[in-house]
Amino acid sequence: MLRETQERAQSVVERAPSPPQVNAYEMFQTQVDLVGEKLSLPSDLLALLKVPERVLEVSIPIRMDNGQIQVFQGYRVQHSSARGPCKGGIRYHPQVTLDEVKALAGWMTWKCAVVDIPFGGGKGGITCDPTRLSLGELERLTRRYTAMILPLIGPHHDIPAPDVNTSAREMNWVMDTASVLRGEPMYAVVTGKDIAVGGTRGRREATGRGVAIVTQEILERLGHKVQGATVAVQGFGNVGSVAALLLHQAGAKVIGVSDVSSAFYCERGLNIPEMIAYVNHSPHRLLAGYSAPGAREISREELLTLDVDVLIPAALEGQITEKNADQVRARVIVEGANGPTTPEADVILEERGVTVVPDILANAGGVVVSYFEWVQNLQCFYWDEEETNVRLTRIMRRAFQEVWEYARQRKASLRTAALMIGIERVVQAIRLRGIFP
Ligand code: NAD
Repeated sequence: MLRETQERAQSVVERAPSPPQVNAYEMFQTQVDLVGEKLSLPSDLLALLKVPERVLEVSIPIRMDNGQIQVFQGYRVQHSSARGPCKGGIRYHPQVTLDEVKALAGWMTWKCAVVDIPFGGGKGGITCDPTRLSLGELERLTRRYTAMILPLIGPHHDIPAPDVNTSAREMNWVMDTASVLRGEPMYAVVTGKDIAVGGTRGRREATGRGVAIVTQEILERLGHKVQGATVAVQGFGNVGSVAALLLHQAGAKVIGVSDVSSAFYCERGLNIPEMIAYVNHSPHRLLAGYSAPGAREISREELLTLDVDVLIPAALEGQITEKNADQVRARVIVEGANGPTTPEADVILEERGVTVVPDILANAGGVVVSYFEWVQNLQCFYWDEEETNVRLTRIMRRAFQEVWEYARQRKASLRTAALMIGIERVVQAIRLRGIFP
């Protein structure tokens, strides 16, 4: 039975269409150009902001379980250290490319600046399909990758964290590998670890919690209540499932949820705690095979066009494009994922009056609590979960208010406002520091 379900889940993943072919780095650069023009930034400074400071590409040889050596491509990109050590997750996905990692690193720079924490931006990734690797292969891949990017990472240089298909388990391995190789405990080299090995309470839920906080803020500003608001969530991993759960607990009706394997709709609201329990016990943590009275399966494309108050894309970049933006019926989009909306789609959504709360604000909760974890590791002094959540809520609300006010004063979209705030702060740091030598 288990084997049958596993095979079904595997075949669903294999049949899943690839995400739209959007070059995330081009998207990133287009955004910088548009905002740079609004900020009247000189072209030489713009050219600097559009490229990463440092790029490392590694070929990672792994002894597979069958005895053969397989080589995987991996990357670590540092976009900017103008405001502090670089910070950003590590992604495991078959579609990871250097361009994608460069874009994600750049967005991290603006994100850390928008929430005003003392980090620059970085990102890492390995082109691989983790569902096809055994636990042993995954551990060897993570440890060898860590060893190969070790010249770049460190508590005061560049601090990785989880991203798509990586979690506390991989972060524990990163920390252990760095500590063994350096010959000293290095808890602050990576965030998102388990609590028993230097993680912070509240980190696993932090990004989804931030998304839920920002969703409540935007609904209030637009004169709505979270109670009874209808919500659809694309992606049911770390970010999507926690955001769905917290909004469900706050009284919202989560009527649609999808992951890479399937999508479900229920007019009176899905039972999110039950769906999370199902995913936690399913192979590869997928929704495939879920059933409940009143819930029906819909296509993953349909999920994005449901008639809801709030749509939360929390999967991958390039999901809302010029091809489907005119069919989106949500009043508000809160970007749990990084880069889910293309610049072309942004224009269409703005014309249609859809409010978009941008990724660099909406999903910043993860990096904010990563910052708390790093602070606690450096001080060897640990907080309780309440302290983490109170501080997270304060930072998210402050950042939301700043972006909202900036947008209102300049009659700009929330994305443009957030990018302008983030880029202005980075530019200020670059100007104050000067260009070496
Ligand atoms: P995850 O691996 O835990 O979950 C990703 C989810 O997306 C899975 O449920 C997967 O099945 C689903 N998915 C993949 N392709 C899909 C598709 N085509 N249609 C529908 N669902 C699909 O990853 P995560 O950590 O939740 O990250 C999700 C997004 O949030 C990414 O863009 C990531 O960069 C961003 N993000 C994550 C964090 C974090 O702390 N984990 C922080 C900030 C931003």
